[in-house]
Amino acid sequence: REVAEAYNAAVAAARGLNAYTVETPEDALAAADAADSGKSTGALAGIPLGIKDLFATKGVDTTAGSRILKDFKPPYESTVVANLRKAGAGMLGKLNMDEFAMGSSNETSAYGPVISPWRRTDGSNVSLTPGGSSGGSAAAVAAGIAPGVTGTDTGGSIRQPAAFTGICGIKPTYGRCSRWGIVSFASSLDQAGPMAKTVRDCAILLGAMAGFDPKDSTSLDQPVPDWEGALSSNLSGKRVGIPREYRIDGVPDEINVLWDKGIEWLKDAGATPVEISLPHTKYALPTYYIIAPAEASSNLARYDGVRYGMRVEGVKTLDDMYSATRAAGFGAEVKRRIMIGTYVLSAGFYDAYFTKAQRVRALIKQDFARAFEQCDVILTPTAPSAAFGIGEKMSDPLAMYLNDVFAVPASLAGLPAMSVPGGLDEQGLPLGLHLIGPEMDEQTVLNAALAIE
Ligand code: GLN
Repeated sequence: REVAEAYNAAVAAARGLNAYTVETPEDALAAADAADSGKSTGALAGIPLGIKDLFATKGVDTTAGSRILKDFKPPYESTVVANLRKAGAGMLGKLNMDEFAMGSSNETSAYGPVISPWRRTDGSNVSLTPGGSSGGSAAAVAAGIAPGVTGTDTGGSIRQPAAFTGICGIKPTYGRCSRWGIVSFASSLDQAGPMAKTVRDCAILLGAMAGFDPKDSTSLDQPVPDWEGALSSNLSGKRVGIPREYRIDGVPDEINVLWDKGIEWLKDAGATPVEISLPHTKYALPTYYIIAPAEASSNLARYDGVRYGMRVEGVKTLDDMYSATRAAGFGAEVKRRIMIGTYVLSAGFYDAYFTKAQRVRALIKQDFARAFEQCDVILTPTAPSAAFGIGEKMSDPLAMYLNDVFAVPASLAGLPAMSVPGGLDEQGLPLGLHLIGPEMDEQTVLNAALAIE
């Protein structure tokens, strides 16, 4: 109870960060009491967690960062949250995020930006973004107002904010965590995962979140390994792939310097670096920004003012009600994605864009399959820069999308990938290192991250 009380107080004291959109202190206390009285004994008994607002939570606002879902209270719990509760966890509240998880800075949220607890050392006191879309999740862990949180990652949304805020975050293999009850963005890419201060905490949380779920047709019917029990920073016999195509122009020196340090740290842990090639890397970003909006435009068709959330009243026809509700309910980035998505799926352009992107996606997947014949895990930087200032990239969507350049290939291939803190840049801001593993091999990813941590 003392732990839950301390976190509840810390959450209330840090409202200036705008990390939580809803606070549920009673929920955290109830789980603590169940643990104290011996009623719950699971791996997370009494541990209060923050939940990204993309996860349906029974009776508690679930907005996905959107105005269109304002005040929406789901009648059921997402499988991941239900699993965390089964392990004994309580909920501190719902965490702010980019609208429908579309963004890399948490600035597309209808509920305002999240402020990173970090500041540059130059004394400028510029407010920085925590990254996105799991920006509230990342800021909460970094600020110590949640010991662990859930995030989701469609094209980097766990890993990039983890890197920006100096914490750990893992996106497991696609299908490890059930998508049931997670508001859909791009269903073939969406995957839940934990974010926490340490690799070990991530292993414990992932162990509780993951598992087969018959309610999700893409759920992996595989046992959940004891990732925490098998943690080891001894990497002897492991080969670490260094993809030459990830040395891209325009990335600041300090990112490449950190990458080289990471290679040395893994060598010290017993691993052998090998140069590998992922030849289709440069097509990953454009491929992602065709497939993700295409799926999003289809998924978001359900927000029509009838079934969920808000409805604009006072219009004459059904069509007017749809368009007035969507015009008022969706933000600019979401509208941009819907327009891109419907364009690439339209009869005249389907083959040129969507089919082509699906083919390139298969090639990207094949690149990784070939690379993993030569190595056991891949090391790259997580993001091409440290955290940027609020407002700095919002007027330039392409600059924003470029932030995902290292993260999206693993998403397109459905592979487990993790960001672990690597060090600080010249301004004292955190930078992340990124590990990508073969399908189902979260263990090697976690172990390599442990060696870096
Ligand atoms: N930044 C990427 C996007 O905007 C990834 C988001 C995510 O992983 N949810 O689509």
